[in-house]
Amino acid sequence: MSYRLPTLIVQFEPAPGDPNAPLSTPLYQTATFEQPGADELGPYDYSRSGNPTRTVLEDLVAEMEGGSRALAFASGMAAITAVTRLAGPGDAIVAGDDLYGGTYRLLSRIGETHGIEVRYVDTTDLDAVARALDERARLLLLETPTNPLLKVTDLRAAARLARDNGTLLAVDNSIMSPYFQKPLELGADIVVESATKALSGHSDMTGGVVAVKDPELAERLYWVQNSEGAGLAPFESWLLLRSVKTLAVRLDRQAANAERVARFLRERPEVEAVHWPGFADHPGHAIHAAQARGASVVISFATNDDDTARRIVEATEVFKISVSFGGVGSVISLPCQLSHASIPPEVRRARAIPEGLVRLSVGIEAAEDLVADLDAAFATANAGRTRSRTREVTA
Ligand SMILES: *Cc1c(COP(=O)(O)O)cnc(C)c1O
Repeated sequence: MSYRLPTLIVQFEPAPGDPNAPLSTPLYQTATFEQPGADELGPYDYSRSGNPTRTVLEDLVAEMEGGSRALAFASGMAAITAVTRLAGPGDAIVAGDDLYGGTYRLLSRIGETHGIEVRYVDTTDLDAVARALDERARLLLLETPTNPLLKVTDLRAAARLARDNGTLLAVDNSIMSPYFQKPLELGADIVVESATKALSGHSDMTGGVVAVKDPELAERLYWVQNSEGAGLAPFESWLLLRSVKTLAVRLDRQAANAERVARFLRERPEVEAVHWPGFADHPGHAIHAAQARGASVVISFATNDDDTARRIVEATEVFKISVSFGGVGSVISLPCQLSHASIPPEVRRARAIPEGLVRLSVGIEAAEDLVADLDAAFATANAGRTRSRTREVTA
């Protein structure tokens, strides 16, 4: 029987073959494994190449994503790096123009040092994608919705264009997770995710996963994982297995809270635009609704004034100033100062990311507290004040 995701992430086989039948996956905190004989190999020999705790995680992620195999890496960037290894000198990578800042930083270097041409296109414009795909294009790498502007790309259409051109489509699904969106089922060849975000959800580890349908592609990516040595360590694999069990309940709650927050922001006179694909008048709403289940726990908004934006960010108390998103705790940031600071200012301007754009990731707190916190922060910002963030310690 194949389970729906909320059941699967709790009721997977936690310890295949273990005679003690634990309900939680044991942590195999070991680098090496004794072999049955001098010329006889057991299922595991060395944890860089494979570790039972990581295998349980990888098998679960493959099933969550609808792939034949998944691989876990030390970070989202390690996972994305492994995917870029599928392209070589003379090849081109066609990349979305609103990608995560760290991905942009990686691609700009790969272009220089690996002889790979990187072409940035607005992937919401399918004609532009079609024009960028030629016989050199090995890989099309995109995010939807993007962060911080929450622009939506039609995944089924992008997958068709890539397939017709013999190009692999890789989707960075960090913002959605397989609970909200499954790119492999929409035609993508590769899904890659930063497990640091929603998959783990507790801001206590970094990790990344890649899942694919094609076993031959999986074998090539496994070669990279084993040879370059960036596979996820046993303890982090164990931690992720523990955290992923609550993915569905966390995201249900976060999405409901995000909707409350997005609607609150929309009513504020200081707010010029709220970027959130759940709104019916968001330009990508219909496409997003046709390919994803939840809107997004990430929201961004622009105010009429960069200084007001900075004061709002500094005045919130429940929303902590921090990078990252998808976690149980709500965070707030100015992307141009944090997550996207690795993108040069002129490139940010060309991509129409306002310097004063505020990004929120909504957590599982009481919605009333989140809205009240923002309400108070707006009042403080309007008064030209910043609230002290110094925590009072009471005995
Ligand atoms: C955070 C993030 C990454 C990088 O993941 P790390 O775990 O920080 O290395 C890649 N892509 C997206 C969309 C992200 O949000």
